[in-house]
Amino acid sequence: MKLITMKAVVDKETCTGCKLCEKICPVLAIKIVDRKSVVDADKCIGCGNCEQRCPVHAIRMEKLKEPYTLKVEIDSQDYEKIREICIKARMHPEQKICYCTGTRAQEIAAAILKGADSPEKISAMTGVRGGCKVECIQPMLRLLKAAGITPTPPEGGYQWYGITPTVYDIPEEVKAKHSKRGFYFDSDVELFEKVVKAAKKGGK
Ligand code: SF4
Ligand code: SF4
Repeated sequence: MKLITMKAVVDKETCTGCKLCEKICPVLAIKIVDRKSVVDADKCIGCGNCEQRCPVHAIRMEKLKEPYTLKVEIDSQDYEKIREICIKARMHPEQKICYCTGTRAQEIAAAILKGADSPEKISAMTGVRGGCKVECIQPMLRLLKAAGITPTPPEGGYQWYGITPTVYDIPEEVKAKHSKRGFYFDSDVELFEKVVKAAKKGGK
């Protein structure tokens, strides 16, 4: 969920058409037309990334007269399916996956069930990635993968950072090699599983 209070506005006189803003916008709201940046105000989620990164300060954030909230209601989807996606992605449904917007895994899963099949569409529906954009892209990609979706990164953009492996993804040969050097990946997994079981018993 994100309260949208601002939109990006471009000063066309100053814009040099360098395309940087187009490459970083999390909802693909920017297009370069005739070597000038054009913001689709209906798509913009007011994250301010383009404004912060424009090398010639051609973008300013304009306050909205009527702020509005971007959100996918959890109740709009089958909670068992939401839970299934989250658990498959090894996340607690109530786990925060975007600290800037406070968005939880369950809202991302609900957006996916509602038809979002890329990080950009999830951002457009929920406002997630409306802040730093560093922490949330990986859990978003994991949740999409858990739902059986393999999205394609925006062409030429810098919006994605890929997925770093967790302890669950480490190949057996890598585990075997490093177990001799004091890394105990399987023990870590066992410990995680015990914590999850204990939490389930406690009703969490
Ligand atoms: S980053 Fe700035 S100069 Fe570059 S295209 Fe966008 S608005 Fe224009
Ligand atoms: S980068 Fe953020 S502020 Fe700029 S156009 Fe895209 S959504 Fe709007």
